Amino acid sequence: MKREELEATWARTNRRWWTKAQEQIGRMNKYTCKTCGGSIITQDADAGVTPMFLACRATEGCLGSMASSMYVCNDDAPPTHEWFRPRSDKKMSPEERDYWRNGGLSLREVA
Ligand SMILES: [Zn+2]
Repeated sequence: MKREELEATWARTNRRWWTKAQEQIGRMNKYTCKTCGGSIITQDADAGVTPMFLACRATEGCLGSMASSMYVCNDDAPPTHEWFRPRSDKKMSPEERDYWRNGGLSLREVA
């Protein structure tokens, strides 16, 4: 399935959620690792949902888990990562596909 088809489905079947999700594009969030204390700043580049916990992305080799600050982010620092929706679910595992079809966004480093 392509991203456009998925989003058209939401516009048809879940319009209230989809409208609200689109209004929230651009939101910044902070995830902090409980193990190393490192953090990353994320920005929503697309409309969708993001997880509460993440494998640590602040320190290479850290096996800790990062927790969301629930979009409370008072840092002036620019985002280090962005949440985006991949263009299609073609190359995804079944778990990734489920997540994607339910509005889940993927994380990548901001270049
Ligand atoms: Zn860590």
